[in-house]
Amino acid sequence: MELPLQMVDLKRQYQNIKPAVDEAISRVLASSAFINGPDVKAFATELAEYLGVKHVIPCANGTDALQIALMALGLKPGDEVITPSFTYIATVEVVALLRLKPVFVDVDKNTFTMDPESLRKAITPNTKAIIPVHLYGQSADMQPILDIAAAHQIPIIEDNAQAIGGDYTFPDGSRKKTGTMGHIGTTSFFPSKNLGCYGDGGALFTQDDALAERMMMIANHGQKSRYYHEMVGCNSRLDSIQAAILRIKLKALDRYCDARRHAAAFYDEAFAAQPLLSTPQPATYSRHVYHQYTLTLHESIDRDRLQQYLNDRGIPTMIYYPVPCHRQNMFKDLDGSSFHLPNTDYLTPRVLSLPIHTEMDETTLRYISTHLLEGVATATKS
Ligand SMILES: *Cc1c(COP(=O)(O)O)cnc(C)c1O
Repeated sequence: MELPLQMVDLKRQYQNIKPAVDEAISRVLASSAFINGPDVKAFATELAEYLGVKHVIPCANGTDALQIALMALGLKPGDEVITPSFTYIATVEVVALLRLKPVFVDVDKNTFTMDPESLRKAITPNTKAIIPVHLYGQSADMQPILDIAAAHQIPIIEDNAQAIGGDYTFPDGSRKKTGTMGHIGTTSFFPSKNLGCYGDGGALFTQDDALAERMMMIANHGQKSRYYHEMVGCNSRLDSIQAAILRIKLKALDRYCDARRHAAAFYDEAFAAQPLLSTPQPATYSRHVYHQYTLTLHESIDRDRLQQYLNDRGIPTMIYYPVPCHRQNMFKDLDGSSFHLPNTDYLTPRVLSLPIHTEMDETTLRYISTHLLEGVATATKS
C-alpha cells in the first residue's frame, strides 16, 4: 500500500492490462487511422452487444452526448427539461446551453436518484424531456419514471455516465442495463469513470433507428453524406486510440464491476455497527456498480474535520457535489430558491465519498475503514 492513496487507482489498473493496451495503441499508430478507424466501429458494435441495445453512437465526451441527445429531440428554446439538482453540472449545463429551461427535481434520500413523486409534481404542458441520472453507479427507479413519461409522451434521456454495466430489474422480473430503458442513453468514458479511456470519450445509445440516424448526423456536422449538411450539428468524435483501449477495458467491465462491489461490501460490513454513518443503500431493483461509495454522515459529524483527519493519514475523500445545481451561480437567474428540494439540501452537507476502484486490496480497505471509524470518533460534535 502506497500513501497517499488515490480515489481511483488508474496506474495499477493500467499495469494489469498493459501488454494488451500497449499493443492496441501501437496497432492504431501503425495504421494511422486516427479518426473513425475500424476500432471505433468495432467498439460501437461490441458495446451495443454488451448493453443489449440496437445503436451505439460514439462521441467526444459525456457532456457532448447529453447535448447531442437533446438536439436530436428537436426541442425549442424555452421547452422545459426535468433533471435532478443532485447531479454533476454537465447534466444541466447542456440544457441551459441549448436555451432550454432546466426544471430541478429532488432525489430519494436513500438512493440519491430521481424521486418519481417529485418528478410527477414538476410535469407541465411545457415539459419536453426528462433526464434521470444513475448517480454513483445506481440505477434510478425507472419503472415509475417511464410510466410518468409515457402518460405524458415525454422522451427520457438516461444520464448513464456513472453507472455503465449496472442494471435495473423491472417489477415483472425482467432486467435491462442502465442507459437502455429510455429513448436515449448517454455515457462518458472519462478516465475515472467505470469504463474509462485514456483521454476523453463518450457515447449515445438508442433502440430507435430514426433517433440513431439523427444523432449520428448531429455528431458529424449534420451531414449524412460528406459535405452535404442537413441540419446544424457539432463535431464530436471518439478517436481510434481511445476506442482501441475501450475495447480492451469493455472485456474487463463485468470483472471491474464485481471488484467495486467487493470493495463496497467490505466497507458496508466495516461500518455496519457505527450508527453515525449511513452506508449507501442498494435498492432492490438495482445492481449497483459503485462508481462512488458515498456515505451519509450524521449531522453531529464535522465533515471538514473528518476529511482533514483522513487526509492527514493519506486517505483522500471527495464531496460529490458541494453545491447542488439549483444553487449554482450559473443558474441564479432561474431563482434556485423557488425549487423546494429538501432531500437534496439534506444530503449536500452530509455526503462523503471514499476511495473505490478496481484494484483495492484488503490491506487498503482495512486501513481506510479503521481510520474512518477513528476519525468519526474524533470529529463528532457533542
Ligand atoms: C462525468 C459525467 C458527465 C460528463 O462527462 P464528460 O465526459 O466529463 O463530459 C455527465 N454526467 C454525469 C452524471 C457525469 O458523472
